[in-house]
Amino acid sequence: MVRSIARSLLVVVGGTLLCLAPLRAQSVQGPASAVASANFSGLENEAIGWLQGLIHINTSNPPGNELVAAKYLAAILQKENIPCEIFESTPGRGFLVARLSSSAVPDPSRALLLLGHLDVVGVDKSKWTVDPFGAVIKGGYLYGRGAIDDKGMVIANLATLIELKRSGAHLNRDVILLAEGDEETGGETGMKFAVEKHWDKIAAGYAINEGGRVVMKNGKVQYTGIQVSEKVAVNVDVIATGTSGHGSVPRKDNAVVHLAAAIAKIGTYETPVQFNSVTRAYFEGLAPVEDEETGKWMRALETSDRGAHAARWISDASPVWNSMLRDTVAPTMLQAGIRNNVVPSEARGVLNIRLLPGNLAEPLLAKLQQLVNDPQVRFEVEPEEGEAAPSSSVTSDFYNTISRVAQQEFPGAAVVPEMSTGSTDSTPLRLRNVQACGLLPFPLDEGDILRMHADDERIPLDSFRKGVEFLYGIVSDFTVVK
Ligand SMILES: [Zn+2]
Repeated sequence: MVRSIARSLLVVVGGTLLCLAPLRAQSVQGPASAVASANFSGLENEAIGWLQGLIHINTSNPPGNELVAAKYLAAILQKENIPCEIFESTPGRGFLVARLSSSAVPDPSRALLLLGHLDVVGVDKSKWTVDPFGAVIKGGYLYGRGAIDDKGMVIANLATLIELKRSGAHLNRDVILLAEGDEETGGETGMKFAVEKHWDKIAAGYAINEGGRVVMKNGKVQYTGIQVSEKVAVNVDVIATGTSGHGSVPRKDNAVVHLAAAIAKIGTYETPVQFNSVTRAYFEGLAPVEDEETGKWMRALETSDRGAHAARWISDASPVWNSMLRDTVAPTMLQAGIRNNVVPSEARGVLNIRLLPGNLAEPLLAKLQQLVNDPQVRFEVEPEEGEAAPSSSVTSDFYNTISRVAQQEFPGAAVVPEMSTGSTDSTPLRLRNVQACGLLPFPLDEGDILRMHADDERIPLDSFRKGVEFLYGIVSDFTVVK
């Protein structure tokens, strides 16, 4: 159903799908404030319907098949007379871009990019209590793979663009919607394709993407974390070699034993604590809204007398905080053997390493090699190392806008910059000098945040509505002539 509607509204021009809406600048004066818009609650409810429709389209990656979802969005944009284009990277994959222009001559350095990804991680259907692609509404929640990561964000971006268009807002900069794919497995056919092959379509000075959070605790918003930086992923193979032979005649150089010993040593190794300007500001900003004990240790992190104990306390309190404080090394895969009675000549493990921005893998690997201290074990860095990007500014106009709107929306809650422990598609943007800020705008408690990539992913409908309103508030504040 969705597919046939979408197809009828699109034409193919030279490998690119184009919406039929005409290009024109937004020039009608209109209300800038989300709250001032009379139809806003209507928009939120429409957006819930759009999110359900998007969840119905299975974009599990691999294979992704994001273009079906892109065409679904294109059909919605078409009805609103918002021009858009779809670019195909490989069959069935690629991205959608739509733009509200502020003037006849675009100024990319001022433009704001609203970014989201259409692909989702896979599901183990047997572990879900509802159909992961059924978009079931139950008990005030919308269930479905991608409800949070990242289809909810894509639809909040879409709703924001549509509300700007409907309200006839007079824009002072272009607003670009980008819905891409392949975020969950490296971005080759999604963000990398968009940035490397079609930069002219998405070039912007500012961007908002997933990555940051509006965190709820005890039923109210505790803080808004604006992601401005992220750790860098490097995968390293640990390879143990030994003599192969009959299982009935074991030898001391057994590769499985040497690998297991190496992994055990690596698993207990803790890298030193290091701060950067983002994590420093994060802990400082969070301390006042944490409970007394946690706040006390956050404030003590860099004191000379209690710093070490504080880092221990904070690391033990949360694995995420632990990962913000240091490089981390997580053994994630093991592989050895072909038969139960054959001693293999090789055994392999994989370490998923997350480096603080600016740190290099080599000194850490030298340390691990020294720790393992076994000539039978060697390390090999896998290709496709992550790239470190400079942090986005915490004093840019855009960061300040987000911060101000967050304080208006959630009085009493903190606003802090964040460094993600994982990676997002903001890195290729930051490498092109885009002030990219990560902020999933939906207020979520820890329980629902942990459902990302997990069974029964869901979004509370109230949080979704609030998130749409919050995002619109940020974007309209930043882009609409007052
Ligand atoms: Zn995501």
